[in-house]
Amino acid sequence: MNAFENALTQLERAAQVADVSERIIRRLRQPQRFVEAALPVMMDSGEEKIFTGYRAQYNNARGPYKGGIRYHQQVDTEEVKALGLWMAIKCAVANIPMGGGKGGVIVNPKELSVGELERLSRAFARAFKDVLGPTIDVPAPDVYTTPQIMAWMADEYVKLTGDPKGRATFTGKPVADGGSLGRDTATAQGGWYVLEAFMKKMKSGPGLRIAIQGFGNAGSVFARIAGKNGHTVIAVSDSSGGIYAPGGLSIAAVEKHKNKTGKLAGFPGAKAITNAQLLELETDVLVPAALENQITGENAPRIRARTILELANGPTTPEADGILAKRNVIVLPDVLANSGGVTVSYFEWVQNMKGETWTAARVDEMLRKTIQAAFEAVHAFAAGHRVPHRTAAFAVAVRRIAEATA
Ligand code: NAD
Repeated sequence: MNAFENALTQLERAAQVADVSERIIRRLRQPQRFVEAALPVMMDSGEEKIFTGYRAQYNNARGPYKGGIRYHQQVDTEEVKALGLWMAIKCAVANIPMGGGKGGVIVNPKELSVGELERLSRAFARAFKDVLGPTIDVPAPDVYTTPQIMAWMADEYVKLTGDPKGRATFTGKPVADGGSLGRDTATAQGGWYVLEAFMKKMKSGPGLRIAIQGFGNAGSVFARIAGKNGHTVIAVSDSSGGIYAPGGLSIAAVEKHKNKTGKLAGFPGAKAITNAQLLELETDVLVPAALENQITGENAPRIRARTILELANGPTTPEADGILAKRNVIVLPDVLANSGGVTVSYFEWVQNMKGETWTAARVDEMLRKTIQAAFEAVHAFAAGHRVPHRTAAFAVAVRRIAEATA
């Protein structure tokens, strides 16, 4: 099944218990609008190349469409739609007044020079400017898109539209360009608050062993936070492969190595493992923080973690969910576990719209309260209806979307 079929299966499972009308579920089975655009980019060679970009405007019942833009060679229409539906659910779980959307460009950004990357990002803003806007659709970073890329897009959007509030159209900007303090660490920090709240319910203390797949914005910051809070990160990975040290990795040393060499592979003092092996390690908590479809019907029977905290979007397939539930592995789902990113993106949007600058402490406090409230709502539904946390999160969200649907 592709990512969108997976997302729709998750929606159907929630529909069984959410007690909302079929009319709402029907509306959520497809995006309200899906836009495709050609993005012509002048390459350094002097030749023009055309990239394909997408934007799924999935649902705006609760507020402007909100969701990242992904740069990856495997972006396709079904992935963008899936990510759009997950964003609509996620914003409703976090209870922020935003709808769901997502964008993507089919490109391997590692093959582009900085100049080409800037021209591609400006081309995206140009191509989609008529369907974006601070009260219409507000993108953000996702895989292989950065604060710098958001700054280029915001700059291009403001130049083209002259909208004085135009910068609020893109969140995840550098702080100097109107970004919010705390946005760079928000996804991992939010994930941390979810794990902390769950462990409190389980009456579990520090000293957990944690394995993390993906060492980008979400995964590397989470590794740092987990280490700081007395847990042991035993394995991490990126697209070059994984490293494993049963006694624990020094995350500062790992980050230094990655910054120097551009990859985790070759880190001294740890065993090299594959991404597949990382997922099956003997660990307390497994944190997928890379891409979709990593935990499947094939490897779910061999997962040894007791808890899975999904910082990535869509890392677990519905088939795997069924197997994990039977084996009593708790999955803290993406739409809850990584909702810290969009929550602080929303805070950035509010600051831009009101012309305010909030302190890091204020952002963190508001993030903590938002995520704890989201966790409590989801956990209570899961316990009350005896369903997995993913089904509970979708059900809570679908009810909130139903209340906002005219
Ligand atoms: P990123 O570009 O900063 O990092 C991605 C990481 O994944 C890199 O370390 C990369 O090497 C690794 N990776 C890529 N392909 C891999 C593979 N096949 N196996 C293992 N690792 C691989 O991206 P990010 O922002 O950290 O996003 C990671 C995940 O978190 C995505 O699913 C994204 O949608 C999700 N997410 C991110 C945010 C955010 O605010 N950044 C918010 C919510 C969800």
